[in-house]
Amino acid sequence: MAKVRGLVCRECGREYPVEPIHVCEFCFGPLEVIYDYDEIKRNISRSKIEEGPKSLWRYIDLLPVEEPTVGLTAGFTPLKKAENLGRELGLENLYIKDDSVNHPTLSFKDRVVSVALSKAKEFGFDTAACASTGNLANSVSAHAAQAGMNCFVFIPANLETQKIIGSLVFNPTVVAVEGTYDDVNRLCSEIANELQWAFVNINIRPFYAEGSKTLAFEVVEQLGWKAPDAVVAPAASGSLVTKIWKGLKELLKVGLISELNTRVYGAQALGCSPIAQAWKEGSDFVTPVKPNTIAKSIAIGNPADGIYALNVTKESMGDWETATDEEIIEGIKLLAETEGIFTETAGGTTIAVLKKLAMTGKIRKDEVIVAYITGNGYKTMEVLDGHLKTPVKIKASLKDFKEKVLVKT
Ligand SMILES: *Cc1c(COP(=O)(O)O)cnc(C)c1O
Ligand SMILES: [Zn+2]
Repeated sequence: MAKVRGLVCRECGREYPVEPIHVCEFCFGPLEVIYDYDEIKRNISRSKIEEGPKSLWRYIDLLPVEEPTVGLTAGFTPLKKAENLGRELGLENLYIKDDSVNHPTLSFKDRVVSVALSKAKEFGFDTAACASTGNLANSVSAHAAQAGMNCFVFIPANLETQKIIGSLVFNPTVVAVEGTYDDVNRLCSEIANELQWAFVNINIRPFYAEGSKTLAFEVVEQLGWKAPDAVVAPAASGSLVTKIWKGLKELLKVGLISELNTRVYGAQALGCSPIAQAWKEGSDFVTPVKPNTIAKSIAIGNPADGIYALNVTKESMGDWETATDEEIIEGIKLLAETEGIFTETAGGTTIAVLKKLAMTGKIRKDEVIVAYITGNGYKTMEVLDGHLKTPVKIKASLKDFKEKVLVKT
Protein backbone atom coordinates (compact mmCIF):
# COMPACT_ATOMS: atom_id res chain seq x y z
CA MET A 1 0.00 0.00 0.00
CA ALA A 2 1.88 3.03 -1.24
CA LYS A 3 -0.01 5.59 0.83
CA VAL A 4 0.51 3.77 4.16
CA ARG A 5 4.06 3.37 5.47
CA GLY A 6 3.12 1.22 8.43
CA LEU A 7 2.40 1.63 12.11
CA VAL A 8 4.45 3.74 14.51
CA CYS A 9 4.66 3.78 18.30
CA ARG A 10 3.39 7.12 19.56
CA GLU A 11 5.83 6.97 22.47
CA CYS A 12 9.17 5.66 21.20
CA GLY A 13 8.69 6.02 17.45
CA ARG A 14 9.50 2.39 16.58
CA GLU A 15 7.91 1.34 13.31
CA TYR A 16 5.86 -1.79 12.60
CA PRO A 17 4.32 -3.32 9.47
CA VAL A 18 0.57 -3.07 8.83
CA GLU A 19 -0.82 -5.81 11.07
CA PRO A 20 -3.69 -6.21 13.55
CA ILE A 21 -1.56 -5.03 16.47
CA HIS A 22 -1.99 -2.00 18.70
CA VAL A 23 0.79 -1.77 21.29
CA CYS A 24 4.54 -1.38 20.97
CA GLU A 25 6.47 -4.50 22.00
CA PHE A 26 9.22 -2.40 23.55
CA CYS A 27 7.48 0.36 25.51
CA PHE A 28 3.79 -0.66 25.40
CA GLY A 29 2.93 2.67 23.78
CA PRO A 30 -0.08 2.78 21.43
CA LEU A 31 0.51 2.35 17.70
CA GLU A 32 -0.72 4.74 15.04
CA VAL A 33 -0.92 4.55 11.23
CA ILE A 34 1.75 6.55 9.38
CA TYR A 35 1.36 7.63 5.81
CA ASP A 36 3.60 8.67 2.98
CA TYR A 37 2.29 12.22 2.73
CA ASP A 38 4.43 13.09 -0.29
CA GLU A 39 2.87 10.21 -2.18
CA ILE A 40 -0.63 11.23 -1.03
CA LYS A 41 -0.02 14.86 -1.94
CA ARG A 42 0.78 13.80 -5.50
CA ASN A 43 -2.53 11.92 -5.80
CA ILE A 44 -5.03 13.99 -3.88
CA SER A 45 -6.92 17.12 -4.90
CA ARG A 46 -10.04 19.01 -3.90
CA SER A 47 -11.78 18.17 -7.17
CA LYS A 48 -10.95 14.47 -6.94
CA ILE A 49 -12.52 14.40 -3.46
CA GLU A 50 -15.55 16.40 -4.59
CA GLU A 51 -16.18 13.88 -7.36
CA GLY A 52 -15.93 10.97 -4.93
CA PRO A 53 -18.73 9.05 -3.23
CA LYS A 54 -21.06 10.92 -0.87
CA SER A 55 -19.67 9.06 2.12
CA LEU A 56 -16.50 9.17 4.20
CA TRP A 57 -14.86 7.09 1.48
CA ARG A 58 -14.34 10.24 -0.60
CA TYR A 59 -11.28 10.64 1.66
CA ILE A 60 -9.92 7.15 1.04
CA ASP A 61 -6.51 8.59 0.11
CA LEU A 62 -6.12 9.55 3.78
CA LEU A 63 -7.53 6.32 5.22
CA PRO A 64 -5.66 3.03 5.85
CA VAL A 65 -7.91 0.90 3.63
CA GLU A 66 -7.28 -0.30 0.06
CA GLU A 67 -10.83 -1.07 -1.02
CA PRO A 68 -13.78 -0.29 1.25
CA THR A 69 -16.07 -3.30 1.69
CA VAL A 70 -17.97 -2.49 4.89
CA GLY A 71 -19.91 0.67 5.82
CA LEU A 72 -20.22 2.20 2.37
CA THR A 73 -22.88 4.67 3.52
CA ALA A 74 -21.23 6.19 6.60
CA GLY A 75 -20.23 9.83 6.78
CA PHE A 76 -20.91 12.94 4.69
CA THR A 77 -23.46 14.11 7.24
CA PRO A 78 -24.94 17.64 7.22
CA LEU A 79 -23.06 20.71 8.40
CA LYS A 80 -25.91 22.95 9.46
CA LYS A 81 -25.57 26.70 9.96
CA ALA A 82 -27.14 27.11 13.39
CA GLU A 83 -28.77 30.53 13.11
CA ASN A 84 -31.21 30.11 16.00
CA LEU A 85 -28.80 28.57 18.47
CA GLY A 86 -26.18 31.07 17.34
CA ARG A 87 -28.53 33.96 18.12
CA GLU A 88 -29.21 32.46 21.55
CA LEU A 89 -25.49 32.20 22.32
CA GLY A 90 -24.34 35.38 20.57
CA LEU A 91 -22.41 33.55 17.85
CA GLU A 92 -22.79 34.70 14.26
CA ASN A 93 -21.08 31.82 12.51
CA LEU A 94 -22.04 28.72 14.44
CA TYR A 95 -22.33 25.38 12.67
CA ILE A 96 -23.54 21.98 13.85
CA LYS A 97 -21.82 18.94 12.37
CA ASP A 98 -24.70 16.54 12.67
CA ASP A 99 -23.60 12.94 13.09
CA SER A 100 -26.84 12.19 14.92
CA VAL A 101 -28.05 11.20 11.44
CA ASN A 102 -25.02 9.17 10.45
CA HIS A 103 -25.81 5.94 8.63
CA PRO A 104 -26.65 3.23 9.61
CA THR A 105 -26.73 3.56 13.42
CA LEU A 106 -27.03 7.30 14.09
CA SER A 107 -23.70 8.11 15.71
CA PHE A 108 -20.18 9.05 14.68
CA LYS A 109 -19.16 5.46 15.49
CA ASP A 110 -20.36 4.44 12.00
CA ARG A 111 -17.24 6.20 10.71
CA VAL A 112 -14.71 4.35 12.83
CA VAL A 113 -16.45 1.01 12.40
CA SER A 114 -16.59 1.32 8.60
CA VAL A 115 -12.84 1.78 8.52
CA ALA A 116 -12.15 -0.86 11.19
CA LEU A 117 -14.24 -3.62 9.64
CA SER A 118 -13.13 -2.87 6.07
CA LYS A 119 -9.60 -3.32 7.42
CA ALA A 120 -10.58 -6.43 9.43
CA LYS A 121 -11.91 -7.96 6.20
CA GLU A 122 -8.61 -7.17 4.47
CA PHE A 123 -6.82 -8.95 7.33
CA GLY A 124 -9.13 -11.95 6.86
CA PHE A 125 -11.00 -11.88 10.19
CA ASP A 126 -14.41 -13.56 10.34
CA THR A 127 -15.48 -12.29 13.78
CA ALA A 128 -16.07 -8.67 14.81
CA ALA A 129 -16.09 -7.55 18.44
CA CYS A 130 -15.80 -4.45 20.62
CA ALA A 131 -15.84 -3.04 24.12
CA SER A 132 -18.50 -0.36 24.04
CA THR A 133 -20.32 2.36 25.95
CA GLY A 134 -23.31 1.72 23.63
CA ASN A 135 -23.00 3.41 20.27
CA LEU A 136 -19.99 1.37 19.22
CA ALA A 137 -21.87 -1.85 19.99
CA ASN A 138 -24.78 -0.65 17.82
CA SER A 139 -22.47 0.16 14.94
CA VAL A 140 -20.34 -2.99 15.12
CA SER A 141 -23.51 -5.09 15.31
CA ALA A 142 -25.00 -3.44 12.21
CA HIS A 143 -21.81 -3.51 10.16
CA ALA A 144 -21.01 -7.12 11.11
CA ALA A 145 -24.50 -8.04 9.89
CA GLN A 146 -23.81 -6.23 6.57
CA ALA A 147 -20.45 -7.92 6.25
CA GLY A 148 -21.69 -11.39 7.18
CA MET A 149 -19.28 -11.59 10.13
CA ASN A 150 -19.84 -13.25 13.50
CA CYS A 151 -20.30 -10.61 16.16
CA PHE A 152 -19.74 -10.25 19.90
CA VAL A 153 -20.27 -6.91 21.59
CA PHE A 154 -19.39 -6.23 25.23
CA ILE A 155 -21.17 -3.50 27.18
CA PRO A 156 -21.59 -2.39 30.79
CA ALA A 157 -24.78 -4.06 32.06
CA ASN A 158 -26.39 -0.76 33.13
CA LEU A 159 -26.67 0.83 29.64
CA GLU A 160 -29.80 2.59 28.40
CA THR A 161 -32.47 0.12 27.20
CA GLN A 162 -32.68 1.72 23.75
CA LYS A 163 -28.94 1.31 23.23
CA ILE A 164 -29.11 -2.39 24.14
CA ILE A 165 -32.03 -3.00 21.78
CA GLY A 166 -30.16 -1.06 19.12
CA SER A 167 -27.53 -3.79 19.17
CA LEU A 168 -29.76 -6.83 19.78
CA VAL A 169 -31.86 -6.18 16.67
CA PHE A 170 -28.86 -7.07 14.47
CA ASN A 171 -28.58 -10.40 16.33
CA PRO A 172 -25.02 -10.33 17.64
CA THR A 173 -24.09 -11.92 20.96
CA VAL A 174 -24.43 -9.05 23.42
CA VAL A 175 -22.36 -9.63 26.54
CA ALA A 176 -23.55 -7.40 29.40
CA VAL A 177 -20.70 -7.20 31.90
CA GLU A 178 -21.24 -6.28 35.53
CA GLY A 179 -19.08 -3.21 35.97
CA THR A 180 -18.03 0.01 34.28
CA TYR A 181 -16.81 0.46 30.71
CA ASP A 182 -13.27 0.31 32.05
CA ASP A 183 -13.97 -3.17 33.48
CA VAL A 184 -15.46 -4.20 30.13
CA ASN A 185 -12.42 -2.89 28.29
CA ARG A 186 -9.97 -4.69 30.55
CA LEU A 187 -11.83 -7.98 30.06
CA CYS A 188 -11.90 -7.48 26.29
CA SER A 189 -8.14 -6.87 26.19
CA GLU A 190 -7.65 -10.24 27.87
CA ILE A 191 -10.04 -11.95 25.44
CA ALA A 192 -8.35 -10.27 22.46
CA ASN A 193 -5.04 -11.82 23.54
CA GLU A 194 -6.52 -15.30 23.37
CA LEU A 195 -8.88 -15.25 20.39
CA GLN A 196 -8.41 -14.33 16.74
CA TRP A 197 -11.20 -11.76 16.71
CA ALA A 198 -11.23 -8.29 15.24
CA PHE A 199 -11.86 -6.17 18.34
CA VAL A 200 -12.38 -2.90 16.52
CA ASN A 201 -11.21 -0.71 19.41
CA ILE A 202 -8.49 -3.03 20.71
CA ASN A 203 -6.34 -4.92 18.20
CA ILE A 204 -7.80 -2.99 15.22
CA ARG A 205 -7.68 0.34 17.11
CA PRO A 206 -4.93 2.03 15.05
CA PHE A 207 -7.12 1.65 11.93
CA TYR A 208 -10.45 2.24 13.69
CA ALA A 209 -9.26 5.56 15.13
CA GLU A 210 -8.36 6.90 11.68
CA GLY A 211 -12.06 6.93 10.77
CA SER A 212 -12.62 9.89 13.12
CA LYS A 213 -10.40 12.10 10.96
CA THR A 214 -13.20 12.25 8.42
CA LEU A 215 -15.12 14.48 10.85
CA ALA A 216 -12.39 17.07 10.30
CA PHE A 217 -12.14 16.51 6.54
CA GLU A 218 -15.86 16.88 5.93
CA VAL A 219 -16.21 20.06 7.97
CA VAL A 220 -13.35 21.72 6.11
CA GLU A 221 -14.75 20.71 2.72
CA GLN A 222 -18.26 21.82 3.72
CA LEU A 223 -16.90 25.21 4.80
CA GLY A 224 -15.46 25.67 1.30
CA TRP A 225 -12.04 24.24 2.12
CA LYS A 226 -11.45 26.43 5.15
CA ALA A 227 -10.64 25.22 8.64
CA PRO A 228 -12.92 26.69 11.32
CA ASP A 229 -11.60 29.03 14.04
CA ALA A 230 -12.70 26.65 16.76
CA VAL A 231 -14.34 23.25 17.20
CA VAL A 232 -16.04 21.73 20.23
CA ALA A 233 -16.15 17.93 20.55
CA PRO A 234 -17.01 15.48 23.31
CA ALA A 235 -14.36 13.13 24.70
CA ALA A 236 -14.59 9.64 26.14
CA SER A 237 -11.32 7.83 25.35
CA GLY A 238 -10.07 11.08 23.80
CA SER A 239 -9.61 9.45 20.41
CA LEU A 240 -12.13 11.61 18.53
CA VAL A 241 -10.57 14.88 19.74
CA THR A 242 -7.09 13.59 18.93
CA LYS A 243 -8.07 12.52 15.42
CA ILE A 244 -10.00 15.68 14.54
CA TRP A 245 -6.73 17.54 15.14
CA LYS A 246 -4.68 14.94 13.25
CA GLY A 247 -7.12 15.23 10.34
CA LEU A 248 -6.82 19.02 10.22
CA LYS A 249 -3.03 18.83 10.26
CA GLU A 250 -3.06 16.27 7.45
CA LEU A 251 -5.13 18.57 5.24
CA LEU A 252 -2.43 21.18 5.69
CA LYS A 253 0.35 18.65 5.04
CA VAL A 254 -1.10 17.46 1.74
CA GLY A 255 -1.92 20.98 0.60
CA LEU A 256 -5.73 20.86 0.70
CA ILE A 257 -5.74 23.91 2.98
CA SER A 258 -3.10 26.60 3.24
CA GLU A 259 -3.48 27.63 6.87
CA LEU A 260 -4.61 26.12 10.12
CA ASN A 261 -5.52 28.15 13.21
CA THR A 262 -8.24 25.98 14.67
CA ARG A 263 -8.59 25.81 18.44
CA VAL A 264 -9.87 22.45 19.64
CA TYR A 265 -12.13 22.43 22.72
CA GLY A 266 -12.84 19.18 24.55
CA ALA A 267 -16.12 18.56 26.36
CA GLN A 268 -16.60 16.07 29.19
CA ALA A 269 -19.38 15.28 31.63
CA LEU A 270 -18.38 16.52 35.07
CA GLY A 271 -19.23 13.09 36.51
CA CYS A 272 -16.56 11.52 34.29
CA SER A 273 -14.00 14.16 33.38
CA PRO A 274 -10.52 12.73 33.92
CA ILE A 275 -9.06 14.58 30.91
CA ALA A 276 -10.60 17.93 31.81
CA GLN A 277 -9.42 17.52 35.42
CA ALA A 278 -5.85 16.76 34.33
CA TRP A 279 -5.98 19.87 32.13
CA LYS A 280 -7.20 22.08 34.98
CA GLU A 281 -4.46 20.76 37.25
CA GLY A 282 -1.82 21.23 34.55
CA SER A 283 -0.95 17.56 34.93
CA ASP A 284 0.82 15.52 32.24
CA PHE A 285 -0.95 12.34 33.19
CA VAL A 286 -4.60 11.45 33.48
CA THR A 287 -5.75 9.98 36.78
CA PRO A 288 -8.52 7.40 36.25
CA VAL A 289 -11.92 8.09 37.83
CA LYS A 290 -15.05 6.07 38.47
CA PRO A 291 -17.79 7.39 36.15
CA ASN A 292 -20.96 8.83 37.66
CA THR A 293 -22.98 10.63 34.96
CA ILE A 294 -26.04 10.25 32.75
CA ALA A 295 -23.71 10.70 29.75
CA LYS A 296 -23.01 6.99 29.47
CA SER A 297 -21.77 7.10 25.88
CA ILE A 298 -18.78 9.18 27.03
CA ALA A 299 -18.31 7.61 30.47
CA ILE A 300 -14.77 6.29 30.21
CA GLY A 301 -12.89 6.67 33.49
CA ASN A 302 -9.50 5.56 32.17
CA PRO A 303 -9.19 7.18 28.73
CA ALA A 304 -6.71 5.43 26.42
CA ASP A 305 -5.95 8.60 24.46
CA GLY A 306 -6.22 11.02 27.37
CA ILE A 307 -2.67 12.37 27.23
CA TYR A 308 -2.80 12.75 23.45
CA ALA A 309 -6.07 14.65 23.78
CA LEU A 310 -4.38 16.96 26.31
CA ASN A 311 -1.60 17.59 23.80
CA VAL A 312 -4.18 18.58 21.19
CA THR A 313 -5.61 21.36 23.34
CA LYS A 314 -2.08 22.48 24.20
CA GLU A 315 -0.94 22.55 20.57
CA SER A 316 -4.12 24.11 19.19
CA MET A 317 -4.51 26.61 22.09
CA GLY A 318 -7.89 25.17 22.98
CA ASP A 319 -9.32 24.27 26.37
CA TRP A 320 -11.38 21.72 28.30
CA GLU A 321 -14.73 22.32 29.94
CA THR A 322 -17.22 20.13 31.78
CA ALA A 323 -21.00 19.98 32.13
CA THR A 324 -23.12 18.70 35.02
CA ASP A 325 -25.93 16.21 34.31
CA GLU A 326 -28.41 19.04 34.71
CA GLU A 327 -26.52 21.17 32.17
CA ILE A 328 -26.33 18.21 29.77
CA ILE A 329 -30.12 17.88 29.79
CA GLU A 330 -30.44 21.63 29.28
CA GLY A 331 -28.01 21.29 26.35
CA ILE A 332 -30.10 18.53 24.75
CA LYS A 333 -33.24 20.66 25.10
CA LEU A 334 -31.57 23.85 23.86
CA LEU A 335 -30.35 22.18 20.65
CA ALA A 336 -33.72 20.55 20.06
CA GLU A 337 -35.71 23.75 20.66
CA THR A 338 -33.49 26.01 18.57
CA GLU A 339 -32.30 23.77 15.74
CA GLY A 340 -34.70 20.83 15.65
CA ILE A 341 -31.92 18.35 16.27
CA PHE A 342 -32.42 15.65 18.89
CA THR A 343 -29.08 14.60 20.30
CA GLU A 344 -28.11 12.26 23.08
CA THR A 345 -26.19 13.01 26.26
CA ALA A 346 -22.82 13.37 24.49
CA GLY A 347 -24.30 16.08 22.25
CA GLY A 348 -25.91 17.69 25.29
CA THR A 349 -22.44 17.85 26.82
CA THR A 350 -21.06 19.52 23.69
CA ILE A 351 -23.83 22.14 23.66
CA ALA A 352 -23.49 22.84 27.40
CA VAL A 353 -19.75 23.36 26.96
CA LEU A 354 -20.27 25.46 23.81
CA LYS A 355 -22.57 27.70 25.85
CA LYS A 356 -19.94 28.12 28.58
CA LEU A 357 -17.25 28.94 26.02
CA ALA A 358 -19.52 31.57 24.47
CA MET A 359 -20.53 33.05 27.83
CA THR A 360 -16.94 33.34 29.04
CA GLY A 361 -15.77 34.88 25.77
CA LYS A 362 -13.35 32.06 24.96
CA ILE A 363 -15.02 31.79 21.59
CA ARG A 364 -16.00 35.06 19.96
CA LYS A 365 -19.04 36.36 18.14
CA ASP A 366 -17.58 36.57 14.63
CA GLU A 367 -15.54 33.36 14.69
CA VAL A 368 -16.45 30.29 12.66
CA ILE A 369 -17.35 27.69 15.29
CA VAL A 370 -18.23 24.04 14.70
CA ALA A 371 -19.95 21.96 17.39
CA TYR A 372 -19.77 18.20 16.85
CA ILE A 373 -23.04 16.42 17.57
CA THR A 374 -21.94 12.80 17.72
CA GLY A 375 -25.04 10.82 18.65
CA ASN A 376 -28.82 10.60 18.42
CA GLY A 377 -31.31 11.42 21.17
CA TYR A 378 -33.74 8.67 20.25
CA LYS A 379 -31.27 6.24 21.83
CA THR A 380 -31.17 7.88 25.28
CA MET A 381 -34.74 9.06 25.71
CA GLU A 382 -34.98 7.80 29.28
CA VAL A 383 -32.69 10.57 30.54
CA LEU A 384 -35.40 13.10 29.66
CA ASP A 385 -38.00 11.47 31.91
CA GLY A 386 -39.41 14.20 34.12
CA HIS A 387 -37.62 16.99 32.24
CA LEU A 388 -40.17 17.74 29.51
CA LYS A 389 -43.71 19.04 29.31
CA THR A 390 -46.24 16.21 29.31
CA PRO A 391 -48.90 15.72 26.61
CA VAL A 392 -52.23 17.49 27.19
CA LYS A 393 -54.80 14.69 27.42
CA ILE A 394 -58.27 15.41 26.05
CA LYS A 395 -61.37 13.62 24.83
CA ALA A 396 -61.96 13.65 21.08
CA SER A 397 -64.22 16.69 21.34
CA LEU A 398 -63.89 20.28 20.18
CA LYS A 399 -65.12 21.47 23.56
CA ASP A 400 -62.43 19.62 25.43
CA PHE A 401 -59.81 20.92 23.01
CA LYS A 402 -60.90 24.51 23.56
CA GLU A 403 -61.05 24.17 27.35
CA LYS A 404 -57.92 22.20 27.95
CA VAL A 405 -55.59 23.23 25.14
CA LEU A 406 -56.49 26.70 23.92
CA VAL A 407 -57.23 28.16 27.33
CA LYS A 408 -54.15 26.81 29.00
CA THR A 409 -51.51 27.53 26.37
C1 LIG B 1 -17.80 7.15 21.58
C2 LIG B 1 -18.48 8.46 21.59
C3 LIG B 1 -17.79 9.67 21.79
C4 LIG B 1 -16.33 9.79 22.21
O1 LIG B 1 -15.43 9.05 21.58
P1 LIG B 1 -13.88 8.89 21.94
O2 LIG B 1 -13.25 8.79 20.63
O3 LIG B 1 -13.77 7.62 22.75
O4 LIG B 1 -13.43 10.07 22.75
C5 LIG B 1 -18.50 10.85 21.66
N1 LIG B 1 -19.81 10.86 21.38
C6 LIG B 1 -20.51 9.73 21.21
C7 LIG B 1 -21.98 9.83 20.93
C8 LIG B 1 -19.87 8.50 21.30
O5 LIG B 1 -20.59 7.38 21.12
ZN1 LIG C 1 7.26 2.14 21.75
